[in-house]
Amino acid sequence: MDETPHRLAEPAREDKHAFQAVEIARSCKRKRRDQEDSLIRSAGGQASMSGEEDKFPRSLPALDDDNQAFWTGGANGELLINRCGECGYYIHPPTSFCPSCESRDVTPQPVSGKAEIVSMTVNHRQWFPNLQVPYVVALVAIEEQDDVRLVTNIVDCDPLSVRIGDKVKVQFEQAEDLWIPLFSPDREDT
Ligand SMILES: [Zn+2]
Repeated sequence: MDETPHRLAEPAREDKHAFQAVEIARSCKRKRRDQEDSLIRSAGGQASMSGEEDKFPRSLPALDDDNQAFWTGGANGELLINRCGECGYYIHPPTSFCPSCESRDVTPQPVSGKAEIVSMTVNHRQWFPNLQVPYVVALVAIEEQDDVRLVTNIVDCDPLSVRIGDKVKVQFEQAEDLWIPLFSPDREDT
């Protein structure tokens, strides 16, 4: 998490990439490391705001066969995580290979959308003109499996009230044809 401020401190590169990512998103298969990089950037690109038209645009990840379900399941209100049909292990970032039992019987499965914050930081610095601050960048572990951890924003709450250990639930923010999984406090759970 402490990498994030450093990444955000590169506005020229970020703006350039925002345009490039959209252009190549449908056709270019990128390496897994690039996908993870996009996850981090996308998580930093939005604040806990509501409907501002001039909000800072997210840098969108490139879709491929492995990650498409994760980034588009929100269209149906589902958080889809790849799961092994042999041993039941959830796999994230998404691949078609189970690192636990080496099976290739892997398909996206909906999970509850409930998670717990395991790490977080609050960004107060407005790195770009339309970036709404403060906002929370968090690492959350899904309820079903502790080592499935998503980089995300915590929204619909006071950023300064968010704490490690808080229970959260997923919601989705549509960006073009992707649905970005974000999380908000799970008030039913408290
Ligand atoms: Zn397996």
